[in-house]
Amino acid sequence: MKVLVINAGSSSIKYQLFDMIHESVLASGRVERIGMDSSIVTHEPADKEEVVEVKEILDHVAGVKRVIEMLTHEEYGVVKSMSEIDAVGHRIVHGGETFKNSVIVTDEVKSEIKRLFELAPLHNPAHMMGILAVEANLPNVPQAVVFDTAFHQTMPKSSYLYAIPKTLYKKHKVRRYGFHGTSHAYVSDVAAKTLGKDLAALKMITCHIGNGGSLTAILNGESFDTSMGMTPLEGLMMGTRSGDLDPAIVPFVMNKEELTLNEVNSMLNKHSGLLAVSGLSSDMREITDAMADNEDAKLAFDMYVYRVKKYIGSYAAAMNGLDVVVFTAGVGENSVVLRQSVCEGLTFLGIEIDEELNKIRSKEPRVISSANSKVTVMVVPTNEELLIARDTYNLVK
Ligand code: AMP
Repeated sequence: MKVLVINAGSSSIKYQLFDMIHESVLASGRVERIGMDSSIVTHEPADKEEVVEVKEILDHVAGVKRVIEMLTHEEYGVVKSMSEIDAVGHRIVHGGETFKNSVIVTDEVKSEIKRLFELAPLHNPAHMMGILAVEANLPNVPQAVVFDTAFHQTMPKSSYLYAIPKTLYKKHKVRRYGFHGTSHAYVSDVAAKTLGKDLAALKMITCHIGNGGSLTAILNGESFDTSMGMTPLEGLMMGTRSGDLDPAIVPFVMNKEELTLNEVNSMLNKHSGLLAVSGLSSDMREITDAMADNEDAKLAFDMYVYRVKKYIGSYAAAMNGLDVVVFTAGVGENSVVLRQSVCEGLTFLGIEIDEELNKIRSKEPRVISSANSKVTVMVVPTNEELLIARDTYNLVK
């Protein structure tokens, strides 16, 4: 069985085609700059040369059509015809309170995703374009949707409610939803399996730290709390997002700087975080490369690390214990110095990192704590697409 995984953005479509027998990737790629002049299609078949073409792709329907042409192409295709593709799985950022699991796409599911547009106005409408584009091109192929929020639907009220008037939750569903759920679910499962332990018996904190970042406390195998909130702005300091701040700063700054709602939103989401503090970059590589002789870059790094530490400490307290910490995503998987700096200050929790193990570069899940460490620290490369493919496969088969 072959499953096509689609991640549709407002002007892009990323794709991966999986053969589910070995869970291998047959091809991956992306269509970028959809609707703009000179769209770019990058197709990477597993055993052949990468193909890059620049051509006009007017909309998502044309984008999916081109993906299909690439996948079935005589020279650089990986399947003979689209009839070999049994299902399509989509990544959807927001599933609100409705979607606690992945589901097959039906008319009701589409209406509900539309109803949730207001909770994720930048993402869900684009995902819907992806679903409709697949429907237009492959009308008989079943589609499934996998939500970034679904894993966190197990959080108790005390984790997900904000201490604001109840009517805001009742009328507008203002609450913590959390994101990166597919990644937190995937790496926690892999971590437990790698250790040969039952996830339900472990108190685990998964640190998904990339350009965006969130930490999740996993108790009894379920998300118990997570650092992102109603939107991905809350929690850790990120590449360009502020993370936690005193909410009274928002009206104060709006007033002083005469900013509109959109402007303050853009400031907090796109012009804050590492970028704002360092004045240099939102990319952790550039920050760590520069910090030896750039005070602002060092401060940005220190603030970033401090936030991760604070969340690990608070989640260890929230769960009344800690067995495993997992690092994943761009920064978590690659930055030796970030992992070292976070763990250094957590010896009181029984965390002892092994400097040599921490330096090893590998695509495999691995333990980086010392044999004496009371808490096992791991690096687990995330693979959200594989989890989407698995859920889709399980729903369709
Ligand atoms: P992601 O959002 O998971 O794709 O992560 C992207 C981020 O990972 C980039 O913005 C980089 O800051 C970071 N990253 C990737 N490689 C490294 C590295 N070797 N060291 C530090 N940060 C890295």
